Amino acid sequence: MKAPIMITAAMDEVELDQLKKELNDLQKKEGKIATFYEGTLGGYPIVLCHTKVGSLLAASAVTEGILNYYPRAIVTQGIAGAHASYIHVGDLVVSTEVIPIHSYQTPEKKKGEGSDSLSWKIQIFAEGQDEEEKIGIEADEKLLACAKTAQGKMKNQKVFLGRIGSGDVWNREVDRICYIQEHYQTLCEEMEGIAIFQIAQQYQIPVLDIRAISNHEVLKESYQREVGKKAQQFTLEVLKEYLKIE
Ligand code: SAH
Repeated sequence: MKAPIMITAAMDEVELDQLKKELNDLQKKEGKIATFYEGTLGGYPIVLCHTKVGSLLAASAVTEGILNYYPRAIVTQGIAGAHASYIHVGDLVVSTEVIPIHSYQTPEKKKGEGSDSLSWKIQIFAEGQDEEEKIGIEADEKLLACAKTAQGKMKNQKVFLGRIGSGDVWNREVDRICYIQEHYQTLCEEMEGIAIFQIAQQYQIPVLDIRAISNHEVLKESYQREVGKKAQQFTLEVLKEYLKIE
């Protein structure tokens, strides 16, 4: 039997409910860190990984999942807050790349000079890498191609492809959100993608991030976690395309 595809989500209730219904032969397995649901889709093995919220748990959970199941691809999916002004609650974002918005160096300031988050630079502090080198991790090209095919089939759903900002932060300051968006061209922010991408990169496993927009601070669109269903539906379509080619 082929190695499974792993799909991760931070919140079981709103980010895995739909996928659990769509999979066949579902079996719940409690890990030490994450909860897993083993199932099949059209006969192919799929593992759902409930990571819980935030990058540390996401990294630990996906590592446990990789060591238990040796997945051949990973899709991290769920909800996110919009950064770009042309994106709205209910739209979907697919990662071309994920950047760590919680990893930054501040400029030097003396005592009494205060703090200004609009001057902080995102950096990844990789050993031997200089500051100007790239900060993001790219999504897998085949998974992205499948997302584009799925996008073409969903006429009534807006799907944007681009950079996702990820980290242990929920930004509610409009100036800060606009600063990140303008400097780093992020479409949205969430809290797990960067961790999943970093671990997937270590194990050289193809990875993609799919997010439904649940809130937009800049446009004053309030939090609707129910959009999690849309990310799951789109993830299913992407999976179906991937299973045709891989
Ligand atoms: N306690 C709330 C929120 C959980 S934390 C609840 O149960 O609904 C938010 C989760 O949604 C994280 O997993 C994160 O990835 C995502 N998220 C949604 N909007 C976000 C935003 N504006 N900033 C950061 N993460 C966001």
